[in-house]
Amino acid sequence: MSNTFQKYNLPSALLGALARMQYDAPTAIQDQVIPIALAGQDILGSSKTGSGKTAAFSIPVIAQLMSNPEASVLVLAPTRELAEQVAGVMTTMVSGCKHLRTLLLIGGEPIGKQLMRLRSPHNIIVGTPGRVEDHLCRGSLHLRNTTFLVLDEIDRMLDMGFSIQIDKIIKRLPVERQTLMFSATLDRNIERLAGSYLRRPERINVEVADNEVKNIQEESFYVSESGKFQTLLEQLSQREGSIIVFVKTQIKADSLSYQLQKEHYKVQAIHGGLKQHQRKRVIEDFRNKRYAIIVATDVAARGLDINHIKHVINYDFPQAAEDYTHRIGRTGRAGASGFAFSMISSPQEKRLWRIINNEPVEREGSRSFGQNTRFNQFKPRPFNPRRSFSN
Ligand code: AMP
Repeated sequence: MSNTFQKYNLPSALLGALARMQYDAPTAIQDQVIPIALAGQDILGSSKTGSGKTAAFSIPVIAQLMSNPEASVLVLAPTRELAEQVAGVMTTMVSGCKHLRTLLLIGGEPIGKQLMRLRSPHNIIVGTPGRVEDHLCRGSLHLRNTTFLVLDEIDRMLDMGFSIQIDKIIKRLPVERQTLMFSATLDRNIERLAGSYLRRPERINVEVADNEVKNIQEESFYVSESGKFQTLLEQLSQREGSIIVFVKTQIKADSLSYQLQKEHYKVQAIHGGLKQHQRKRVIEDFRNKRYAIIVATDVAARGLDINHIKHVINYDFPQAAEDYTHRIGRTGRAGASGFAFSMISSPQEKRLWRIINNEPVEREGSRSFGQNTRFNQFKPRPFNPRRSFSN
């Protein structure tokens, strides 16, 4: 009993929804955030991807919306996909409550449809900063009575250049509100923002929990640029389950996915160059296991919440340690196990790999290293994804 959601005294409609979602017990971040948020305090939270952060802020906000029909929430997220996922989770949680309506305001969707939907009642708005600000400027959205503000992945929103929009949006919100802000990292810039957006926030820092992120087995392999495709084919032939392959550019995503299709793999590419409905279809097809493999760029895969992704393959090594963390966070979600395989093709990438692994780093260019060096190893089970696909 003490290890379930019942200990928080949540409305029964919400407990019912959590049971239907098969959320039996809170994750570490949920256990820290829920009671503090229910008590009305602002929160500055940092947590790893896949830790259950969405429900950590959604549960206390929805519990309060359920008991106060006048209350409303605005959730800002960096990408369309993440906003859709958050809206999906919140919609499921309020499914038993007719007075609670979710509205999604994301770029890439026809504005006309959103203008129409904005005319009907809504108390949960989830959106990306650009589109939300657009609606504020048009006068189609009013936030004067917003009770709760959630800033999800604020670090990423800043990286994507949304700081001006966020600032403008927050100026339109009442000062009397509860704000929950989440970031993967808490650097000076985030602290500064917290100083102006939050009131005496409770800081919550959830370390990587054993059963949440650590169950990803990581390995890397040194291979020249020209040897990557062959290495990828070898890896794919040995791996079972859904696979996400990361590349640097949109063009590369398309060309690699085409090359793999020629090898008879069922694969699709996902990147920022696709129209919103195309991205949605690729994600849905992958979620429904029509395809075992997607080739993705960083932006497109950000926030992808698909529990059955078993393997992350870094065909192109990420540019920054933070991107590496986000990429491998696509697997090993909600306690499942996962594998991450990275191809390294330059001394700079090897250096970054060492930084990521907290290993001593030699001065750049001080030593060359041989080809096809395997740094870490695991033995995947033999499998041929061309023939069949299983979980
Ligand atoms: P998030 O970090 O919010 O993207 O969540 C990661 C995954 O964990 C999602 O697939 C959620 O559906 C799942 N999840 C979140 N909270 C729980 C919970 N308490 N029990 C089981 N699964 C959960």
